Amino acid sequence: MPLRIRLTIWYVGVLAAMLLLFIAGTSFVLYFQLFHQLTRFAVQDIETVEGLLYFQPDGKLTLNENYHNHAQSRYVLERLLEVITPGGQVIYRNERLGNNFLDQSPFAGEGVNGYSERSSRLQNGQRIVLVSRRHNLQGRPIIIRLGYEQAAIWSRIEEFLTASGTALPVLLGLAGFFGYQLSRRSLLPLRDMATRAEQITAEQLGQRLPIANPADELGHLAMSFNTLLNRLQQSFDRLRRFTSDASHELRTPLAAIRSVGEVGLQNSRTPSDYEDTIGSMLEEVTRLTNLVEALLTISRADEGRIELSFSQFSPLDLTREVIGLIEVLAEERHQEVSVSGVGSVRVRGDKLLLRQALINVLQNAVKYSPDGGKISVVVGTSPSGRATVTVTDSGPGIPLEHRRKIFDRFYRVDEARTRETGGAGLGLSIANWAIQAQGGQIRVEDSDQGAKFLIELPID
Ligand code: ADP
Repeated sequence: MPLRIRLTIWYVGVLAAMLLLFIAGTSFVLYFQLFHQLTRFAVQDIETVEGLLYFQPDGKLTLNENYHNHAQSRYVLERLLEVITPGGQVIYRNERLGNNFLDQSPFAGEGVNGYSERSSRLQNGQRIVLVSRRHNLQGRPIIIRLGYEQAAIWSRIEEFLTASGTALPVLLGLAGFFGYQLSRRSLLPLRDMATRAEQITAEQLGQRLPIANPADELGHLAMSFNTLLNRLQQSFDRLRRFTSDASHELRTPLAAIRSVGEVGLQNSRTPSDYEDTIGSMLEEVTRLTNLVEALLTISRADEGRIELSFSQFSPLDLTREVIGLIEVLAEERHQEVSVSGVGSVRVRGDKLLLRQALINVLQNAVKYSPDGGKISVVVGTSPSGRATVTVTDSGPGIPLEHRRKIFDRFYRVDEARTRETGGAGLGLSIANWAIQAQGGQIRVEDSDQGAKFLIELPID
């Protein structure tokens, strides 16, 4: 069932329940008000009756014959009047009451010190308001009872119920109509949003939901949805860029292998020519393997499949270990690698990941420093109380405008220069991810000569 109809049904249902409750409550209050009004009248009338009653010389109780002349006493005719002795003997009943009696024998203290008011029934089942009062007439105690039929009260309540019963369906009908219009109108933006959302596909992620009123709940929903679309679009774009960049990077070494192979087949004759060809092809294969491994690391990191295993270790020891690995490369180019720092500094992190990050940064330092250049690594602490590893080389350095971007995937400062050296622009982005994953940071600092990378890590 559509939401707008369900809302309307709920709305009308709740309103109906409330109106019924209101009608019931009002009837109740009306009954009590009318009942008390009748009682008040009865009390006044008893006082009139008291003045009109007298005992004849023969002891017969009579109502003053001239009562018709009294404006108020005329009403007594319309009442039910009964006078009894405290012993319960009926000594007077008016015409209206006839052979009926108002109540059973008097109860103890009936009408003494005031008026006894109560609800009672005649023999024919008619409900009455009954008021009694004890009185001393010519030295004889009597109990005057005056009854009022409650029919008037019930007919008033009936009138009220009939009027309410007629108005109720009309009111509910109107409420239903306007409630439906209101919910339909308030849900209209939702329909527009749904229509627009149905049109959004992976190819059209640039589309956004319409926001009718940013301040209301639906506007808030649309904004949240749009923010989600923004994020989705960004990751889709990233993914697309990554796939196309990765394919591009893979294509280069593959094309190189192919052309080296083709040239080798066409021109080479001597075994040493073949050796050269195979050597070049293997070089490209190594480059390809490294690239595929980097891509795998990145995709595993993106999926969150790389689980960190934290331990305490000395960054100085780790740096020495990494330098041991890249020293061969540096020696080939007659570069000097120095390491210094505080051995007591200990960090808490994933040693393997940090090792990979350091390898990437140091490999770059070797790669981009000239033959015979100098690379220095210093381990220490920062003023903010973190462990630092600073890698400085004697290469061309990194221009200011590229310093942030070099940590992006596939980003190279100088395409032609770096492709030659074999980099795909992934090394620093992996290092950046690895360092950030353990609460650290890597950035390029100003330096007089060459590039200076500063790695900050949380101290244990
Ligand atoms: P690559 O595999 O191309 O070296 P990286 O992500 O490691 O990719 O580095 C990104 C780019 O940053 C490099 O292409 C290079 O232009 C620049 N770069 C990185 N390290 C250095 C450095 N020590 N000296 C100069 N440029 C560097």
